[in-house]
Amino acid sequence: VIRISGLNKWYGAYHALRDIDLTVRKGERIVICGPSGSGKSTLVRCINALETHQGGTIDVVGTRLTDDLKDVGRIRTEVGMCFQQFNLFPHLTVLENCTLAPRWTRRQSKRDAEAEAMHFLNKVRIPDQANKYPGQLSGGQQQRVAIARALCMKPRIMLFDEPTSALDPEMIKEVLDTMVELARDGMTMLCVTHEMGFARKVADRVIFMDAGAIVEESDPETFFSAARNARTRQFLSQVL
Ligand code: ATP
Ligand code: MG
Repeated sequence: VIRISGLNKWYGAYHALRDIDLTVRKGERIVICGPSGSGKSTLVRCINALETHQGGTIDVVGTRLTDDLKDVGRIRTEVGMCFQQFNLFPHLTVLENCTLAPRWTRRQSKRDAEAEAMHFLNKVRIPDQANKYPGQLSGGQQQRVAIARALCMKPRIMLFDEPTSALDPEMIKEVLDTMVELARDGMTMLCVTHEMGFARKVADRVIFMDAGAIVEESDPETFFSAARNARTRQFLSQVL
């Protein structure tokens, strides 16, 4: 679904991503962790064409990322994103948030879009909140709306960038449970998170980034018990 080869990115003179190679196959669940400023968000944003890159190639669902806006539009419909900030439209109801993109980019009828939105709101266990506005929901509920909204576009892969780090502890679990279920349903997922319990439970591979580079990549078992890199071990000793 994703193939990244020799990716390099600079913000001006700052070298933010260094020679990143990463392949994500259909149905795989990848967890990315690493210290603040290591380039995790930058990598995710490059995959979704929210940032441009300067070296190497990124192929997402069969499309090579270039500056062509047509391709960017296509990738955004195939790739679901969920950020730390929920980015819901505050003036639209939960249901309207979920049906907006399917109606206007997939040209779905209001009725079909609403039926599908209700299906996904059921999946994230908040069908009863459909007619409320985001501001009337808890953080955990808002994040689950954001997940449902992304799912309504029938993405081929879901990208998560620290989806639980702005939430209170009791809400973290409900969002993580939703993500675990999504993984069980076979969704291809790339998740930036420091929730190591989640990584242990669902990840096929765990990736550790430091200073813009991937310094460790292995199955969770090996990652947690026998990390090769000293920087990884130091990081794990802080988060576990
Ligand atoms: P965190 O865990 O804090 O979210 P991160 O691993 O996601 O960190 P990034 O947000 O990818 O890190 O940032 C990587 C580096 O790039 C940081 O040093 C950051 O200051 C820099 N950076 C990020 N965005 C920009 C930008 N728009 N312009 C310039 N520098 C940036
Ligand atoms: Mg980040």
